[in-house]
Amino acid sequence: MSKTETLSRRDLLKTGGAVAVVAAATTLLSKKAEAAEEKVPRWAMVIDLRKCVGCYSCQVSCKMENSVPMEGYNARVNAVDRGEYPKPERIFLPTLCNHCAGEKKGEEQVPPCVEKCPDAKSGKRVELNGVKYRTGATYKRPDGMILNDMSLCIGCYKCIEACPYGARYINPHIKLTRPDREKDLGIGKCTFCQHRVDEGLEPACVRNCVGKARFFGDLNDPNSEVSRLIKENPTKVLKPEEKTEPNIYYIKLDEAVAKMEDLLNPIPKKPKKGG
Ligand code: SF4
Ligand code: SF4
Repeated sequence: MSKTETLSRRDLLKTGGAVAVVAAATTLLSKKAEAAEEKVPRWAMVIDLRKCVGCYSCQVSCKMENSVPMEGYNARVNAVDRGEYPKPERIFLPTLCNHCAGEKKGEEQVPPCVEKCPDAKSGKRVELNGVKYRTGATYKRPDGMILNDMSLCIGCYKCIEACPYGARYINPHIKLTRPDREKDLGIGKCTFCQHRVDEGLEPACVRNCVGKARFFGDLNDPNSEVSRLIKENPTKVLKPEEKTEPNIYYIKLDEAVAKMEDLLNPIPKKPKKGG
């Protein structure tokens, strides 16, 4: 069990020292979310496209925070030009892993990347706010984060092929550690900045959004900003027909742009193995 998983966010927010120093300089997640007792949160993001100014600050800050390689993106800003003079327009659509809840399979909801991962449950049994779960090469945490443990990955890249959103890529900075797979490279994707969120901080892309277009919070808390935004505005998700139940919600999503497959899924479906 990782140190961050043994401490609740509430404990950390109460803790002084290093966390308090960071808190002074960085926006903490809503105290209201914290008030959701010890219940497991359901993390989600709302992106208000009326406010996105296309500055790419989310993309750049994500690269810096997570050491994302040149070859891939955890958070991407897509730009589409359309129309002609004198009325041309540029539309921005920021994308990232949707941390999909997934389609219901028996008792569980399983996103496609987790479903196809042959080592989705080969890890340790751990606990988050009293809820037990098992880690894997690609796995879902009880709070909805879709995470990877590259010490368990066998480099089959089935998760990349399974993701309908092109949210995963081969990360040349990650070498697999299993003795039989040491020549293969690991997977990169957005983690919702798990290392920050577990300490009560917002993801880097939210913290650094110049247009204040990105919001992160707990959908299990009816008083959180994300819950309020979803209640007060019509929102859409990407590719609802895939039945992945994304946890990234958009306000004012342009239907035509949302259907541009090349834009949303630029990664080849059959990635090459090895480095
Ligand atoms: Fe998995 Fe892709 Fe959904 Fe992220 S967007 S949870 S990688 S299927
Ligand atoms: Fe848009 Fe915010 Fe990203 Fe800038 S940082 S591109 S405003 S979402």
